[in-house]
Amino acid sequence: MKRIIIAIDGHSSAGKSTMAKDLARQTGYTYIDTGAMYRAVTLYAIRHGFFSEDRLDEEKLRVALPDIRISFQGNEAGESETCLNGVNVEKEIRAMDVANRVSLVAALPFVRQALVGKQQEMGKDKGVVMDGRDIGTVVFPDAELKVFVTASPEIRAFRRLNELRNKGEKVSFHDVLDNVKHRDLMDSTRKEGPLRRAGDALCLDTSRLTEAEGKAWLLEQYHRITGSLPVSEPESL
Ligand code: C5P
Repeated sequence: MKRIIIAIDGHSSAGKSTMAKDLARQTGYTYIDTGAMYRAVTLYAIRHGFFSEDRLDEEKLRVALPDIRISFQGNEAGESETCLNGVNVEKEIRAMDVANRVSLVAALPFVRQALVGKQQEMGKDKGVVMDGRDIGTVVFPDAELKVFVTASPEIRAFRRLNELRNKGEKVSFHDVLDNVKHRDLMDSTRKEGPLRRAGDALCLDTSRLTEAEGKAWLLEQYHRITGSLPVSEPESL
């Protein structure tokens, strides 16, 4: 069957990665979490003291960038986890100190150029589900299936809060909501690769959808594009 590129973009915590992982599992495609790559670079910058308070020494990061190796490895549950220079950092990159700084790192053109190049290489043989902010606009503008996922900031913050609390982080709803809104603003107003819906992307608002409904909708779009099942006309939800 024809292998395609599936680009899933949208706001943070809108449910992109849950849907993208599920589609990758159902189709046997490779799931690539590009947000994890920006988070891993941010973690490296924090650990090497490139931040003082919230100011980043960009020059130090520029010099260090060739030494930052990001890879993915499967865990026992078959999920992909992020490694930084060979060490698994999946838990560390999800913490609030990284979330609070990642948009600053992701706005730097030299960081984006390096990571976009890696992402294009990872998807060159197709058969990937890639989630991020600029996949359908910059990384793979010719992707066969593009989806833009969103939900209200409050709903996204609530979902993120539950995830963080389940991992044992002590955070308040307001801190998480502030972070979600701050990242939306930073991500959509930066010059290079801003968060925006590609003109040919289908839009999915998950505010009132269950996880199962979002996953089923995405799978249906995949079948429609690949012609693997007879389904109804495309529709944004
Ligand atoms: O997807 P996730 O929320 O983990 O992404 C973390 C951050 O990485 C985003 O807020 C954004 O600043 C950045 N990012 C990006 N481009 C991507 C993926 C993520 O700028 N393709």
